[in-house]
Amino acid sequence: MSKCPFCDPKKEEILFSNVYCYARYDGYPVSPGHILVIPFRHYEDYFESSSTELDAFREMVLQCKCFLDATHHPDGYNVGVNIGPAAGQSVFHVHIHVIPRYEGDMENPKGGVRGVIPAKRVY
Ligand SMILES: [Zn+2]
Repeated sequence: MSKCPFCDPKKEEILFSNVYCYARYDGYPVSPGHILVIPFRHYEDYFESSSTELDAFREMVLQCKCFLDATHHPDGYNVGVNIGPAAGQSVFHVHIHVIPRYEGDMENPKGGVRGVIPAKRVY
């Protein structure tokens, strides 16, 4: 059996799914409602996604946004993928973070995903 945490998800973990991918809550949420969009196929590198998978991701990220708008009423979103250990990838099965953001959830959110290198976030 695979030890990959994103292969073979339990039914109760799945928020949405289609033929190519599924959505689940992040186990260590950055903010309330933090969701991961994950392909059913096990592969490491987002850049190796097929165009069909990319279409499915786009559709499901939008589905997550609509769901979170209705359930969590966030004020904004960060959507992102870590690709490779140098970029902080720690689970080597592609996953897209859909992170709802709330006004006041940090002191100065300017720069958003630029904050992957904290000293360069605010410019
Ligand atoms: Zn996997």
